[in-house]
Amino acid sequence: MDGLMMNRPLLQSSLLDFAAESFPNSEIVSRRVEGDLHRQGWAQTRARAVQLSLALQDLGIGMGDRVATLAWNGHRHLEIYHAVPAIGAVCHTINPRLSPEQMCFIAHHAGDGMLFTDLTFVPLLEKLKDQLPTMRFVIMTDRAHMPENGLDALCYEDLLEGRATDREWPEFPETTASGLCYTSGTTGDPKGTLYSHRSNMLHSLATAAVLGPDLGIQPRILPVVPLFHVNAWGLPFTAPLIGASLVMPGPHLDGASLWDLCQSEGVQSAWGVPTIWQGLYAEMKARGAKPEALRHIVVGGSAMPRSLTEGFEKLGIDVNHAWGMTETSPLGSQGSLSADKRDLPFDRRMDLKQTQGRRVFGVEMKIIGDDGTRQPHDGKAMGELYVRGSTVAAGYYKNPDASAKAIDKDGWFGTGDIASIAPDSTLTLRDRAKDLIKSGGEWISSIDVENLALAHPGIAQCAVIAMPHPKWDERPLMVVKCAGDARPTLEEICTTLETHLARWQFPDDVVYVEEMPLTATGKISKLTLRERFKDHVLPDLR
Ligand code: AMP
Repeated sequence: MDGLMMNRPLLQSSLLDFAAESFPNSEIVSRRVEGDLHRQGWAQTRARAVQLSLALQDLGIGMGDRVATLAWNGHRHLEIYHAVPAIGAVCHTINPRLSPEQMCFIAHHAGDGMLFTDLTFVPLLEKLKDQLPTMRFVIMTDRAHMPENGLDALCYEDLLEGRATDREWPEFPETTASGLCYTSGTTGDPKGTLYSHRSNMLHSLATAAVLGPDLGIQPRILPVVPLFHVNAWGLPFTAPLIGASLVMPGPHLDGASLWDLCQSEGVQSAWGVPTIWQGLYAEMKARGAKPEALRHIVVGGSAMPRSLTEGFEKLGIDVNHAWGMTETSPLGSQGSLSADKRDLPFDRRMDLKQTQGRRVFGVEMKIIGDDGTRQPHDGKAMGELYVRGSTVAAGYYKNPDASAKAIDKDGWFGTGDIASIAPDSTLTLRDRAKDLIKSGGEWISSIDVENLALAHPGIAQCAVIAMPHPKWDERPLMVVKCAGDARPTLEEICTTLETHLARWQFPDDVVYVEEMPLTATGKISKLTLRERFKDHVLPDLR
């Protein structure tokens, strides 16, 4: 027997309607590419999204059409985020840190017909436009700042001007596609995750449920995580649900710029990858103070070094270490401590914050061992992490081969991450499957070694990669970016590791780099490092 309740579709347009009514004055503050600081409330954001949606329809955009963005975090990008899906079209965010070839590959694969861009990327697009012959360009600025350009581009503010500011949104099934995001593609071509209204709505409800208590009432949040990286971890949808203000940083993401913005805008919670927090932490140390209102950060995308977590916590900033992927919308697990753990001694709490936290409602997890069997959730057994849920990709956009590889026979998505899971669902990521080091039949977790080594004050960043070895199969090599002029020796580094690791888990050698190569999403690119050091000879083989 069916329940006798209304079956209203979960559509993203309802988020803007809700925020415009309930939180009209929670702000969207944007440090714009034009150099100014812009403010508008959720009510105005809805009005402008309505105007944009009408303009898009006049330009012929409708159900299922893909509309691309190449842009920083700002209010216009947020308006596009809401206006495009509201009319049944698909908002496709392109990561500007990808190579030009990858960008063109993605735009073609997605079948984008229109591209919105910030002023920053106009010169790049002028170079690429011959490879995108049918693309319609819109520059996200006003008439006064509209540059001379060879793109025959439309001006964003002109599109909005004079249009109605209210409308009834169209209705369609909640399973309609709403967003498209390609994974950074460290191996092979980038693969597209196609979100639906339903998946994004469920994701924002789950995020609000697990993070809401720590975020507090109508928090002021700084999404450093870009809108082009997994929907800025869902913030454009969670923020209107909880009435948050968003402080959009634009292109300047260095420690000093972020410190100033957090301070002047009273940011309480900031979200981003560990490399960003390294920059902000260095700035807080240099100034001898944290931004006054900042009390919470969400970190994910790669493992947060323990020393950095401790540094933030000692300054009174609660670190929430979360795990997720483009394919999981992204939130899969998060580290807000349960009530019974909040009064534990500092070291014990930091142990817990080193993990990737407990699973989020709606995301089921299992781990599969080398022998293909399901492993116990005892906090010790390791295996590949598989996930299942309404916010998890069921395949990749127009890519049946990659889809078939990713989904197992029971419909679970294989993450490629190696993890263990505790009885209370706490997830500990050991490594990416391809980054684990197999030495003498035993696994060495590069994440563990890196995390511990970062406690050495002379190390700013480090990465451990596998080197082939005739006797042991593989042995670890540590690549270090120094924090100062002195180069920490292998011996010194091993002393730092001594209390937590066995000798055979120590790196065999250390090499130094001026800069760490980063992927398009700001993670250390081990692929590049493996390539760069492939001819390195370990000491015992010299
Ligand atoms: P992306 O799709 O670019 O967001 O990358 C997802 C991958 O980032 C995951 O499969 C993990 O390997 C890694 N990752 C995400 N969050 C964490 C975390 N908290 N700790 C370690 N690795 C993470």
